[in-house]
Amino acid sequence: MQRAYNFSSGPSCLPMAVIEEAQQSLRNWQGCGASVMEITYHEDAFRELMHTCEADLRALLHIPPEYKVLFMQGGARGQFSMVPLNLLGQKKSADYLQTGLWSEMAFAEGKRYADMRQVATGAPQHYTSIPPVSEWRCSEDAAYFHYVDNETVHGNEMPSIVGVQSAPLVCDMSSNLLTRVFDIQKFALIYAAAQKTLGISGITLVVIKADLLGKAHPMTPMICNYTRHAHPKGLLLQTPPTFAWYITSLVLAWAKKQGGVAALEDACGQKSQKLYRYLDASSLYYNRVDPKYRSRINVVFRLQDHTLMPLFLEKAKQAGFLGLKGHAASGGIRASLYPALSPSAVDALIDFLKDFEKRA
Ligand SMILES: *Cc1c(COP(=O)(O)O)cnc(C)c1O
Repeated sequence: MQRAYNFSSGPSCLPMAVIEEAQQSLRNWQGCGASVMEITYHEDAFRELMHTCEADLRALLHIPPEYKVLFMQGGARGQFSMVPLNLLGQKKSADYLQTGLWSEMAFAEGKRYADMRQVATGAPQHYTSIPPVSEWRCSEDAAYFHYVDNETVHGNEMPSIVGVQSAPLVCDMSSNLLTRVFDIQKFALIYAAAQKTLGISGITLVVIKADLLGKAHPMTPMICNYTRHAHPKGLLLQTPPTFAWYITSLVLAWAKKQGGVAALEDACGQKSQKLYRYLDASSLYYNRVDPKYRSRINVVFRLQDHTLMPLFLEKAKQAGFLGLKGHAASGGIRASLYPALSPSAVDALIDFLKDFEKRA
């Protein structure tokens, strides 16, 4: 059985080199006589893995020492609660920008903890555009400003870092971390669930500026408290998801080998431009997102004749494509072009789309 052309939105494809190395190490990892899944995390080899993983991430994102790197659990949605629990402090509210499904969910969860405010929303345009900065209503006294850099379901992406000065900047980068160069020092906190660009599900990355620690609500569960996770000696609070952490370490090593974030950004730009160029020229497929805000990672598109959808999905499956069905909240088709997806998969997709268009 051949490997599929994997356009899944998350969990998503891993680099082949990562799969092969993980497979090789399953019997005997690092001379331990067991796999990484079967040993205690107190073993030196695992300590070393944690250390290297953080060092590689710091190198890739140029993270300075005044930021803490935390490897947590609970996914990105866990962060929707942990961010308010840890960052509200004495403040009564925080600002949320609404650009798609994930920022809606972050806002809804945040509202369970405080009277959060919506800065602006792209909902009336079905998130095919992002309200311009001139229309944002930022509060004076917000604990933080939250946004989602790349909306995985609606296929839009911020063209550049949000320049908000009104409050510490918090960003969900679950679906585009490692795909573009940015200045971490503009942020108070960024987070990303690993299963899109950093590995597999089970581990969640949080990078937080250390001066924001120490403000958690007293009822914050210990396991959700950033300050407890940021222990100076790197003590772990619970059994970590060891295999997920291992895969992330392999993905980061792979990313470095590719030439780092700048090289991955370049590759993502090429893949998405090629696909958008084809879709824009086609008379069967269309993408409604304002070109200024189109995601370079999650390309959403539809068929002019939507009755052809079941046939399209069936033919795509037969031709070896995986994960092209759009999210239930938006429908249509979605091709996720994460860094691990090879450019040849995009070429194969375009050939398939052309062929389907010819027969339709
Ligand atoms: C996938 C995704 C989430 C949800 O992540 P979970 O790990 O399933 O909680 C949140 N935000 C964004 C931007 C995502 O792409």
